[in-house]
Formats: sequence, C-alpha cells, structure tokens
Amino acid sequence: MNKELIIFIDSGDTLIDESTEIKDSDGTVLHSQMIEGARETLVTLYESGYTIALVADGTKQSFDNIYNENGLDYCFKAKAISGELGKEKPAPIMFQHAMEQLGLTEKDKSRIVMIGNNLERDIVGANRMGITSILISYSPRYVMQPKCEEEIPDYVVSKPIELLGLLEQLNLQVKNRKILTNSDTPLYRKPSNKSTEV
Ligand SMILES: [Mg+2]
Repeated sequence: MNKELIIFIDSGDTLIDESTEIKDSDGTVLHSQMIEGARETLVTLYESGYTIALVADGTKQSFDNIYNENGLDYCFKAKAISGELGKEKPAPIMFQHAMEQLGLTEKDKSRIVMIGNNLERDIVGANRMGITSILISYSPRYVMQPKCEEEIPDYVVSKPIELLGLLEQLNLQVKNRKILTNSDTPLYRKPSNKSTEV
C-alpha cells in the first residue's frame, strides 16, 4: 500500500558521504560510500511504500555510478538531475520535474517533503516551492546556520535513520488531513448551542 507522503531527497551528504567520493578527471563520481544508516533508511522507506524521487545536483553519470554500485537505484521512482535539466537547486524546475514525472500537481504540494543537507539549495528550494523542508545536519562540510528566513527548514534531523520516525509522523498527518477534508459526512458536529466550542 502506497504512503500518502511523497519524498524528494538530495544525494551528496544526505545519502552519500561526499568525503568518500572518487572522481575521474571530468569530475564524474566513480565511487562513493553511503552515510552510516542511509542505505537502511532508504530501503526501509521504499519497502514501507513511500514514493521517492532523487532531486540532486550533478551529472546523470555520477548518480548512475553511485546508486548502481550501491545497489539502490531501484528505490527512486523519479529523478530530477541538474546535469540533465540545466539548472541547479533551488531552481523550481528541479522540483517541478520530479513532480511531473510522478504525475503530481499543485494540490499535491502539501504532501511532498524535500530532504537535503544544503540550506541554500535544498531548503530554500523547498520553501520557495511551498513543500515541506527537512534539513539533515550530519555534514561537517556545510553551514547549518540559516542566514535568512527562507533558509530555515521546517524540520531538522541529525542523521538519516532519524528520518524514519519523522516521516511516519508526517505521513500520518497527511493521511488524517485527507480523511477530514474528503469526508462527505462530518466526523463530528459542533453542538449548536455551544458554537464557540470546538
Ligand atoms: Mg547535498
């Protein structure tokens, strides 16, 4: 059974450890290791029924190498890769492309989360799009202190494994909201003589 919540996720220092990257002379990543717990997290999310899209800056070849080598490519139902789209996050096209691939429209934005390590790219991009932003603050290589309002993430986790609990919670919220808004008959009625009470 598919989950309501849709997951967009970054790659470098979100799932893979950038300090382990081995590149060729063109800058294509040939090998890279996963962050501790990232493999288990991604596989668990996939097996739980979440729809996952890779939204990442880099070349298609780099991501093919990384996720084929680590045997995780099957986890991504869609990919928005800057090398193919010609623009990097926070450009809206990166997020719009992933949405289009998954058949999602404006009304679905409230059930999409973007997970990333980069305030200027991942968090600003998600916040501007009106989708939920989640910062993964594991990386020692990036500034984790927001410089302005739009760099402030909706949620912060310190390592991948912590995503499991947070995403379950967010999925439940989306599910409950859907029950309330789609229901033909109200689940409860305000007592008519006590209209100020909820
Ligand atoms: Mg990154």
